[in-house]
Amino acid sequence: MQSYVFAFFLFTSLSGQDVKEAHRVIATLASPTFWGRGYVNDGHTKAARFISDRFEEIGLSKFGSNYFQKFDFKVNVFDGDISLKSKKRLLVGQDFIPNADCPPFKGRLKIRKYDSTKTYTGRDIVLLDKKKSLSVNTITPSGKKLTHTFAQSQSRLLGFQLLDSSISKLSKTLKVNLNSSFKSVTSQNVLGYVRGTVSPDSFLIVCAHYDHLGGIGHQCYFPGANDNASGIAMLLQLATYYSKPQNYPKYSILFVAFGAEEVGLLGSKYYVEHPFIPLKQTKFVLNLDLMGSGLEGITVVNGSVFPKEFETLQKINEANHLLKVIKPREKAANSDHYYFSENGVKSFFIYSLGEITAYHDINDTSGKVPLSRFGEMYQLIVKFLETF
Ligand SMILES: [Zn+2]
Repeated sequence: MQSYVFAFFLFTSLSGQDVKEAHRVIATLASPTFWGRGYVNDGHTKAARFISDRFEEIGLSKFGSNYFQKFDFKVNVFDGDISLKSKKRLLVGQDFIPNADCPPFKGRLKIRKYDSTKTYTGRDIVLLDKKKSLSVNTITPSGKKLTHTFAQSQSRLLGFQLLDSSISKLSKTLKVNLNSSFKSVTSQNVLGYVRGTVSPDSFLIVCAHYDHLGGIGHQCYFPGANDNASGIAMLLQLATYYSKPQNYPKYSILFVAFGAEEVGLLGSKYYVEHPFIPLKQTKFVLNLDLMGSGLEGITVVNGSVFPKEFETLQKINEANHLLKVIKPREKAANSDHYYFSENGVKSFFIYSLGEITAYHDINDTSGKVPLSRFGEMYQLIVKFLETF
C-alpha cells in the first residue's frame, strides 16, 4: 500500500500536464487573430505578446525589463489583395499559391505551354509540366499539395504553384492581381527562466518556435497548429511545472520561444550569436517542434550525434512505458536546435510522429491536432531534464 501511495504521488506530481489547456493555447495561436504568426497584420508580435503574458503569469524571471530579444531581417510578404482569374477564379491556398519571392503585379498574361524551342516575353506565363528553373513567368503543377515557404529576396518573375486538379480552371489568359512587398521586419524571441537551486549559473534550454508562415492576401492564412503552436503549448506547461517551488530544478532552465524559424532559423541563429547566457554555461538544448501527436512515437534529431543522452531518453521511455518508439536521426538544419550544436552546445530536436498529414499548408488547423500522447511526451521530457 505504501509503495502504491508513493507511486501514485509520483505520478500525479509528474502528470502536471493539462491537455485541455494545451488545446486552448493551440486554438488561440492558430486563430485568425494571429494570422499565421507571420509578418502581415503583426501576427508575430501578437503571438510574442501572448507568450510573454503567459511567462509573466507563470512567474518566469526575465533578463531585463521585458522578455523580448529583438532582431531585424528582410522578407517578402503578401500583404494586400491577391486574385487570379482564368477560365474560372482560382483560390489562393486552395488552387494555387504564389512562389515565396513573387513581385507585385497587376495585368493580364498569356498562358503558353512550355516548349524548349520557343521564346517567351514578360507578357507570357509558361505552364510547365514539372518543376523547372526558367527566367520567365511560370505556373508549376504541384501535385496534390501546396506548400508555402518564405523568401528573403524578391524575384522579378512571377511564379505560381498550382494543384494538378486545378489545371482545368485555366484557359488562354490569366488575369493577375498580386500585392507583395519586400519589407524590413523587427521580430523577437521571448525568453524567461527559472533559477536553479544548486547550480544557478548553469542552464538547460527548452525552446520552441512560435512563428509560422503568416498569410497570403486577405483570404488565406497558415494556422500552424502543429507547427508549432503545439510546441509552445508544451513549453508553457513545462515552464509552469518548473516554476513551482516543489519542482525547482537543480540547474537553471531557460525557456525560449523563438521567432522567425520559418524564415530560416533566424531567431535561434540570432540568439546563438547574442546569447543571454554564455554558451559555455548552457549544458543542453531541448527543441520542441511539431508536438501534436506522438501516437507513433517521436524522432530525435541529433540522437545519433549524442548517443549517451539518446540512450538516457530510451531508458526513461522503456522504464515508464511512455511512447511506442523513439527514433534517432543524424544532424539536420531543420529547426532551432541547429545553431546550438553547430556552436558546441549539445542539443536535441524532438518531433512527434503519427496522425497529422498537414504541413506548411492551410490545413494545419487546431481541430486536426489530437495531442494523443501529449502527457507521455511531457513526462518523458521532465524525467529527461531531471537527469542533468
Ligand atoms: Zn516548425
